[in-house]
Amino acid sequence: MLRELNLYPLWVRRDVPVAAVPIKEEGRLDGGEADTRQAKPSEAAMGIEALNPSYVAEAPTVPALSWPELKQQVRDCTACSLRAGCMQTVFGVGDENADWLFVGEGPGEDEDAQGEPFVGPSGKLLDNMLAAIKLKRGSNVYIANVIKCHPPENRTPHVDEIVRCLPYLQRQIALVKPKLIVALGKIAATALLGKEATLGSLRGTLHDYYGVPLIITYHPAYLLRMPAEKAHAWDDLRLAMDAMQKLTD
Ligand code: SF4
Repeated sequence: MLRELNLYPLWVRRDVPVAAVPIKEEGRLDGGEADTRQAKPSEAAMGIEALNPSYVAEAPTVPALSWPELKQQVRDCTACSLRAGCMQTVFGVGDENADWLFVGEGPGEDEDAQGEPFVGPSGKLLDNMLAAIKLKRGSNVYIANVIKCHPPENRTPHVDEIVRCLPYLQRQIALVKPKLIVALGKIAATALLGKEATLGSLRGTLHDYYGVPLIITYHPAYLLRMPAEKAHAWDDLRLAMDAMQKLTD
């Protein structure tokens, strides 16, 4: 299992930095999709409780849409400016009746090109993380993002964009009816919890998303930059496995 997560063996030359961190961590939100996002005084860092009510009023309504209707609405969505700058919307992928739901931040360049969440290096790591807990993409696992359109230059999504896109994720969750949700990174955690806190303070415990247990861990893209954190991610995955075991006993 440790090999699956690239935790063993972990050789780090002491005279070489573990990873180049291209942006200041205070400008990041503990793990976005891509490795090259720009540091910025993030609106998202304000937390979604600080929202302008007009963002909420302008969010798409997705009451009781079926899977085909929801996919069509996302495909046609122009609710925020991100759609104008991306190649396509990236809806989600996997088993639509899965027990496990993994939620990331938003599509990076590879995801925008391929139309699927978590492809490229971070997708490979996510697949390894899934394999470490005996899961496989597409089999009892559904993968989605908070944001369905690739932000320009891989920047962190703005709060208004998150709020306008969040109803789609909420409807996906209602349709999948997962037993357990794993939020990957702070944007996903903030969006699902509806409040902001440091990712470190949110890890290691079971949260609740409208009755569904929610576990929060690092985004694979963050783990690629900060491989020493993989041990913590492994702790989170074990917590998730234990929680699922109890749910299915
Ligand atoms: S990011 Fe979401 S809300 Fe914005 S245009 Fe894309 S699908 Fe619509």
